[in-house]
This record gives sequence, structure tokens and C-alpha cells, in this order.
Amino acid sequence: MTESSTRLAAYLDQRRRLGEPGLVPAELEPGEILRLLRARAASGPAAVERAERARRRGRYDERPSGPARDGADTGKAVADASEAGRVGSADYDALRAAAMACTRCRLAEGRKTVVFSDGNPAARLMVVGEAPGAREDATGLPFVGQAGRLLDLMLASVALSRRDSVYICNVLKCRPPGNRNPQPDEIESCAPLLKRQIELVAPEVLLAVGSFAAQWLTTSRQALGKLRGKVYSYQGVPLVVTYHPAALLRNSGWSRLAWDDLQLLRQVMDGR
Ligand code: SF4
Repeated sequence: MTESSTRLAAYLDQRRRLGEPGLVPAELEPGEILRLLRARAASGPAAVERAERARRRGRYDERPSGPARDGADTGKAVADASEAGRVGSADYDALRAAAMACTRCRLAEGRKTVVFSDGNPAARLMVVGEAPGAREDATGLPFVGQAGRLLDLMLASVALSRRDSVYICNVLKCRPPGNRNPQPDEIESCAPLLKRQIELVAPEVLLAVGSFAAQWLTTSRQALGKLRGKVYSYQGVPLVVTYHPAALLRNSGWSRLAWDDLQLLRQVMDGR
């Protein structure tokens, strides 16, 4: 067992002994988590992933933002990849182009821009939020404004930054009118984009912020307060969930719980 794995095991054991069963992974036993982390760290596919990240790091040094590029090639990529079946095999550029041109749900009608992502596509951590708000819709970037600044502070508290070590996106790429909640059919329409986005970014750890991202990634209908404090697995990728920063701005009493979630995230990331 590596030193970091030992630390994670000790942390989980400490939580259990403190009588905080809600903070101990329920869906994965600690032994399973450690086995998963060790396997990913030591296996050939992990080495392949690292090489692929290095390759993408070179390709995506300029952060993706703004509208899709003009040109016949991009237009063809959009037309091809806009078909749901093609999204599942699109490369990163084609996927982004497909999202930028997407009209698969009603949210296409009222949006100013499609909010695809921010951060580093070669990052180890992928943060998945809910949906763009007014500022995000205007800028084309997720998590800007007050909630975005709080998210940056939360990430900084565990030595992470969207510029270098985090990739950020949302369940929905277009803004729901009036900042209403995403509708189930909108989430279903947008899901192929997110699924493929996760496959292509291939994060080592996922962080879901807010109930919509947490419920989609865990396939649970439980409230966030019940879901948080545990480590899940999304397609074999360790997943931690926590409150949306906008919710934390409204309910400062949840800050301590969010802090615990971030410590759990750090522990999982350090376990590699
Ligand atoms: S929210 Fe998703 S599915 Fe709906 S139009 Fe935007 S990109 Fe397409």
C-alpha cells in the first residue's frame, strides 16, 4: 500500500470512528476505492491516459471559449457531429462544434451563446455544474460572477485552479430562461454531449457541484444533503459531490459541510 493510500485509509477509518457514517463512502467500500486508485495509478491504461493528457495539453493551451470557428471543415463537423449517434464518437473539436450548433432542445431558442467549458482539458479534475446563468450566457464561460469566484476560492483551498488543474463544464450547455431549474427532457437531450465530454477529457476525479450534476452522475434521485460526503464511481472514475457555490452564497451554514467535501476530494486526489 502506498503512503497516500495509507493516508486515505486512515482518513476514512477516522471518519468512521468519529461516528460520521454519512462521510464514509457508501457506494464504494474504502478497500474498493483504494484498489481502484492503485489500479488506475499502476496500470497500462493510466499510462496511456497520461500520455493522452500530455498530447491534449499541447493542443489545448488556448482555453476553449466563444463561438465555433467559421469554415467549411468546421461546418461539416457540426453537421456530422450534431447527429446524436455521431456525438458518441466525435473528437474534442467536433464535439465542441456540435455543442455550439446544437438545437436539440428548447434552450437553443433563448440562448446568447453555448457554454461548453473552461479550464484545462488535460486536468486531473473535472468539475460538473448545473447550467449557465445570465453572466455565463453572456460570456460563454461557466462559473463566472460571484458564484464563480466562490468556486475558484473553494478550489484554491485545496490547491486547485481552473487555469491549470481543473476542467469545468455544466450538465446543460445553454441557459434556462430566468435561471429556472433544468427540465428532465433538457438534461436528457444534453446528456450525450456531457457523456462524450467526460470520455474525451478522461479526468482522474470528478466533482459534481449542485444537485442536478450530482443526481445525473450518481443516477440517484436523493437530495444533495443525502448524497454528499461519499465517494461514488462514474464509469470507474471516483466522484465526489458537494453544494453548488450559488447555494452556499444563500446558505452560509453549509460552508462547513462543503469544506468537508473538499477535504474528501483532496484525499481522493492525493490517493493517486
Ligand atoms: S442545452 Fe444542450 S441539448 Fe439543449 S440546445 Fe443547448 S447544447 Fe443542445
